[in-house]
Amino acid sequence: MKRTHHCNELRPTHIGQMVTLTGWVHSRRDLGGLIFIDVRDREGRTQTVFDPSDLPKDLFERAAALRSECVIRVAGKVRQRPEGTNNPKIPTGAVEVMVTELEVLNVADVLPFPVDDPEVASKVNEELRLRYRYLDLRRPEMARNLRLRSKVAMATRQYLDEQGFLEIETPLLFKSTPEGAREFLVPSRVNPGQFYALPQSPQQFKQILMVGGIERYYQLARCFRDEDQRADRQLEFTQIDLEMSFIEREDIYTLVEGMLKRIWKTALNLDVPTPFKRISYQEALNRWGIDKPDTRFGMELVDFTEEFRASKFKVFGGAVASGGVVKALNAKGLASVTQGQIDTMTEYAKGFGAKGLAYIKVEGGEWKSPIVKFFSDAEKASLAQKLKIEEGDLILFAADQWLNACEILGEIRRYCANLLKEQGKLTIPADRFDFLWVVDFPLLSFDKEQNRWYSSHHPFTAPVAEDIPMLKTDPKKVRGQHYDVVVNGVELGGGSIRIHQPDVQKTVFEEVLQIPPEETKLRFGYMLEAFRYGAPPHGGIALGFDRLNAILCGTPSIRDVIAFPKTAKGTDLMTESPAAVTPRQLRDLHIDVKVAKKD
Ligand code: ASP
Repeated sequence: MKRTHHCNELRPTHIGQMVTLTGWVHSRRDLGGLIFIDVRDREGRTQTVFDPSDLPKDLFERAAALRSECVIRVAGKVRQRPEGTNNPKIPTGAVEVMVTELEVLNVADVLPFPVDDPEVASKVNEELRLRYRYLDLRRPEMARNLRLRSKVAMATRQYLDEQGFLEIETPLLFKSTPEGAREFLVPSRVNPGQFYALPQSPQQFKQILMVGGIERYYQLARCFRDEDQRADRQLEFTQIDLEMSFIEREDIYTLVEGMLKRIWKTALNLDVPTPFKRISYQEALNRWGIDKPDTRFGMELVDFTEEFRASKFKVFGGAVASGGVVKALNAKGLASVTQGQIDTMTEYAKGFGAKGLAYIKVEGGEWKSPIVKFFSDAEKASLAQKLKIEEGDLILFAADQWLNACEILGEIRRYCANLLKEQGKLTIPADRFDFLWVVDFPLLSFDKEQNRWYSSHHPFTAPVAEDIPMLKTDPKKVRGQHYDVVVNGVELGGGSIRIHQPDVQKTVFEEVLQIPPEETKLRFGYMLEAFRYGAPPHGGIALGFDRLNAILCGTPSIRDVIAFPKTAKGTDLMTESPAAVTPRQLRDLHIDVKVAKKD
């Protein structure tokens, strides 16, 4: 008695047919002597009806005893639902199956949480969902997410295959390269005291594949970063990782635009316009205060450095005198913010080292602010004109070094946008996707504490050719051939054209990043060596596959698109991992564990 149809298949055209369905008892209702059971499988659900007047007593009694999520097989005849009982919300809602046979394939205990009611299910505490992930995965929303993810993986593979890419797996047992994020170490049993590391990305292997003449590589690569988890991060995650030889930045832009176009069409049936806008890092920070701007709404940052250069308001004048800038934004319609909200924004600003947050509320035709009394008429006129100030506006300022001022206002812009959304003053259509490339990042950033330069992206990123002479003289000015692809304020991915000349790579390691030559040799010796045997010019990119799917599914959490995610503490609540191991295992691995006692 195999199933003849899945549970999302029956339509009025099937009326009169004998069918067999298999699945879970989604819900059971006893009404007027009849029992109605919705049978659910991965595809959907179908209403089945048990009528005691047509059925042997024991069969009816078995149906009456079925609990939610028991696994059953039913057979019966499809019929039109009686007048007025159609359920237009489900595709099978015009028909029902009059059951004549029932087999209980397995029973289910009482559930820790219901899976049949999306309203209730969406409120279930996430820890409980993760502990019973197999039940959570039965919820139609989760099944839809995993199905979409699979389709997106397929579309990606198809597209890259068409573009001549080879899918190649790179090792998970890699070597420790202690820069960037913390790594997971794996002890080697046969090499006492030695460790592998799980890769943070296949970066080095994919570059070596280019030296190996592969020309076009990709992989849906699992990556590992032992970072303290933020809300949208996982210790292990997946990237669409790719690398190409004999190309320039433009080739990557075109390739990735085509890939995202294909993915959006496949997943959402939306046509993404290409080419994407391009914005320099400098412009992104100047206008939106962040290197991954959400350009779906305005509220752009406006510069007032010149206006306040000689200001009597010392906080602004002083910031400019010490080489900083004054910037402001107009949060239209937000003059109604509460003091508590201003305090929250002030905390944001302080998090970036600001002493406070200057603001003006425009209410009742007046500029309400503790600082306006210090402004000259010219300063006020300029603010009014450049920020188009009107009744109901809230003006917020940052006066600081350029990067800080931009980032502070960038955060505040996001905070204000959320407030406006909550108040219904800003609506962004769910199917609006603003893709853009952020380019011309600085190759290097300065670490004040350690008094040295570090790579803004990673040490393999090539400098813009004409900036190479400045590497040793003015590293701050050197731009990297690095690009990020951003959508709606989310960084989808990033990559770069790589250094392929061994001498330039050595200069970057040793003279710019000041890695001692012995250490360079130890960590990257094999790469420098490989580059000496004919390395083609190459570049690539990696896109966060989990995040991409979260965006497509319209969920704020990447945990909703990962079958078995970990909690913020890095634990798997279902299998209870991580966990202690036996002394014998540790001995075999030559490991002695000392856990410091917490007081
Ligand atoms: N490996 C880089 C990363 O994981 C991406 C790339 O440069 O291709 O961020």
